[in-house]
Amino acid sequence: MKISISRILRSHRRTIALVITRDARLVVRAPLQTTMAEIETLVERKRNWITTKLAQAQQRQGLHRMNPFSDGELFRYKGQQYPLTITTNERSIRLNDHHILFPERLLANPERAMIYWYAHEALRAVTERVQYYSETHGFRHTGITVTGARTRWGSCSQANRLCFSWRLILTPEPVIDYVVVHELCHTVEKNHSARFWNRVGAILPDYKERKALLKEY
Ligand SMILES: [Zn+2]
Repeated sequence: MKISISRILRSHRRTIALVITRDARLVVRAPLQTTMAEIETLVERKRNWITTKLAQAQQRQGLHRMNPFSDGELFRYKGQQYPLTITTNERSIRLNDHHILFPERLLANPERAMIYWYAHEALRAVTERVQYYSETHGFRHTGITVTGARTRWGSCSQANRLCFSWRLILTPEPVIDYVVVHELCHTVEKNHSARFWNRVGAILPDYKERKALLKEY
């Protein structure tokens, strides 16, 4: 995703400064001789900071409430923020490298369409990871479901049926893997004993950091 610069203001200053305006635009203040390439390199390096600040500015402005599902509104996917692009070319919601392409025809009930898409993506992602860890560590489960659960990210039934919240697709991949491994370990240990955590730790030695990251969501 290329970050768009709203304005470049050149002056007799010595360093480049990135400014996020109150109306959620990126303004670059730069010395007179600065090349476009230099500016773009800096913008790329500060990508995470910029997207976070843009999202915050946008939220503060209440754009989301005033005009939900508008072009450019940021949506989370696997821990990254992607701007929505309303399009007439697509039949269904699709993520390309830069945007979430959102068919205009779905604007009649956009929230429902978005959750449906997120749930579909979540099922695809967790199924792939469950398969991976099952093959590499010999776990067995009896099925995978994605639900709208708000209170928990995942669960494992007595019959070893795995259940995940579609909201998991909003979190970064290391977090998704942590929840997947956690639930897979419950197919063997139905509790949170030391044995359970040893098993999780044997597969994901950094599981504590991933667990902490999950809390942020
Ligand atoms: Zn658990």
